Amino acid sequence: MVWRLLSFVGLQAAAAALAWALVAPGTRVWTALVAAIGAGYLWLLLDAVRGLRLLNWLRRGESTEVALGQGLWGEAADRMRRLLRARERQVVEGEGKLQDFLAALQASPNGVVLLDAQGRIEWFNQIAGAHFGFDVRRDLLQHFGNLVRDPEFAAYFSDRDFSRDVVMPGRDSTSAKPVRLSVQLHPYGEGRSLLLSRDITAVEQAEAMRRDFVANVSHEIRTPLTVLAGFVETLQALPLDEEERQRYLGLMAQQAQRMQSLVNDLLTLSRLEGSPLPSVHDWVSVPAVLRACETESVELSRLLWGRAQDIVFEPGPSCELAGSQPELYSAVFNLVGNAVRYTPADKSIHVRWQSLGNGACLLSVEDTGPGIAPEHVPRLTERFYRVDRSRSRDTGGTGLGLAIVKHVAQRHGAELRIDSAPGKGSVFSLVFPASRVRTMTAQTPVTV
Ligand code: ADP
Repeated sequence: MVWRLLSFVGLQAAAAALAWALVAPGTRVWTALVAAIGAGYLWLLLDAVRGLRLLNWLRRGESTEVALGQGLWGEAADRMRRLLRARERQVVEGEGKLQDFLAALQASPNGVVLLDAQGRIEWFNQIAGAHFGFDVRRDLLQHFGNLVRDPEFAAYFSDRDFSRDVVMPGRDSTSAKPVRLSVQLHPYGEGRSLLLSRDITAVEQAEAMRRDFVANVSHEIRTPLTVLAGFVETLQALPLDEEERQRYLGLMAQQAQRMQSLVNDLLTLSRLEGSPLPSVHDWVSVPAVLRACETESVELSRLLWGRAQDIVFEPGPSCELAGSQPELYSAVFNLVGNAVRYTPADKSIHVRWQSLGNGACLLSVEDTGPGIAPEHVPRLTERFYRVDRSRSRDTGGTGLGLAIVKHVAQRHGAELRIDSAPGKGSVFSLVFPASRVRTMTAQTPVTV
């Protein structure tokens, strides 16, 4: 301020002094006065020009500097420049933070949609885009309710009770491949809302499977229990002779045996699901497993058919498998046992252990039984799935054998293959990867 006053007065004084010196003595006073006033106007004009330059610079909003030197306008320009820079920095920082937040929401495993107070889509992440079939260019600022027309969601949206979620089909849902979404709105700010969507297809399927499993187990146990209870009642109520008593007790033992097999298979399955993967450092002798299966299968064959079937074991190269002996035995015996149970007494069964050349090995159980129609094959490893219920039960089946085989195979990195055709018999094979197989040397200790 002092500088401005000094420059204003100084310029006028200098002009007056110059006029005083240059003009003749008679008109000196007036000329000096006019020169001082003129200099004052000139100062004001220059000052206004500088002010205007600053104003124009502000109006244009240019980032280039405006040179106004020192003084009031120079300082004003300087301070404004600094203020603008600070603002710009804040905006850039704010923008960076916003991008970070959006990137975090983008990384969310759930669908996220931000809705404005009118329910229009302001932003959504890729998962939400896939859940609802949204397109960034087409659907931003569209009303969510106009794009998602599911009646369950419409009722949920109009009820405005957002304390719970709503379950609706996803965009790609078909009857063959249903997709179920759990959607919940969370209001925030002034009328805005955050919509979260979660794919719960797998959870719902697991829940349905659990329900089916419990229903199946209950049914499988109830049937022999009912038969047992009936026999007990008969034995209690009727005076039976010794022969009849023995017959009934035999039938009761059969039913008890059936329940025992079922419980054993259930326990095996639950152990397979709950225990850590078998070690890759424990080696199991394949010939020993095959020998044990041979003995057992001959016994089973005698029990079921009254005589030993024609079961040929071809042990192939002497190998060891990395894994769990009880699991591998259980898988192989389930396959051999099925062949014995489903192949008529006068037909043959071949059990082979072969090398596939690339280090991988194959265990196959080939029977000449009834074979299986192609539509059943993909479902055979489901729990309690049977092609012929009564045949399975009559031969002591639980419907869990192939589910156990599949689990064991998965836990040993092996693949279960089923080749079968009605009337032509079946081949069930387990293919073990090279990493799980090693050739037995004479020194290799045998583990059974
Ligand atoms: P199950 O105890 O009923 O044999 P599995 O899980 O072992 O149960 O087998 C499922 C179904 O697959 C059986 O009920 C049977 O219908 C069919 N199956 C399994 N092995 C054979 C086979 N070797 N020949 C014909 N059908 C078979």
